Amino acid sequence: MSKFSKERTLVIVKPDGVQRSLIGEIIGRFEKVGLKLVGLKITVPTEDHVEKHYTLDPSWRQVTGEKTIESYRKNGKTPPSEDPQEITAVILENLKKYLTSGPSIVMVWQGAHSVGLVRKIVGGTEPLSSDVGTIRGDYVMDSYEMSDTDDRAIRNLIHASGSVDEANNEINHWFSGDELVDYRLVGEQILYDVNLDGILE
Ligand code: ADP
Ligand code: MG
Repeated sequence: MSKFSKERTLVIVKPDGVQRSLIGEIIGRFEKVGLKLVGLKITVPTEDHVEKHYTLDPSWRQVTGEKTIESYRKNGKTPPSEDPQEITAVILENLKKYLTSGPSIVMVWQGAHSVGLVRKIVGGTEPLSSDVGTIRGDYVMDSYEMSDTDDRAIRNLIHASGSVDEANNEINHWFSGDELVDYRLVGEQILYDVNLDGILE
């Protein structure tokens, strides 16, 4: 089996995705692209667990704050603060409320380029500006403007790891080793095997 087939990523169907009955649709997208589900649970995390999840990456506060400021500027709007850390402190509090509001589905998907592939299928952070064809672009219309007005996190249905390192840390944060299953999917042969002998009879 190709070494590429081993890459793993963490995906969370957030509480709004569960409430909108989109679990099956979302799982279907990842199945159809060829990824393999190796871990799955339904859970209501604690606020502490949510905070740790987002701060596993020490640069998350800075990067997310900067990304928010940039998107305000792009839309000709004034950001709520010029300090990225101040912006993320508010986002983090709102994320804790959002992700503890109801059950989430937490999954580990495995396959070639799974981290980047899942991010591509999920789409950009703000559903209003996410590309058509992505999950966030197709199934919800939330915006920074709406979430700011109501002082809440942006509801974008899904979390997906941003890099391979982030994925490994997040997988360890949500799953113990024995909750993940190593197995072969019959369809992987056509995706990864060098030699396709044995198909024709
Ligand atoms: P992504 O989930 O696309 O990787 P981030 O890691 O930057 O995005 O942010 C984590 C989550 O925090 C987002 O999915 C979204 O729910 C929320 N969020 C990010 N930025 C904002 C913002 N400016 N206002 C409200 N919520 C935000
Ligand atoms: Mg992120």
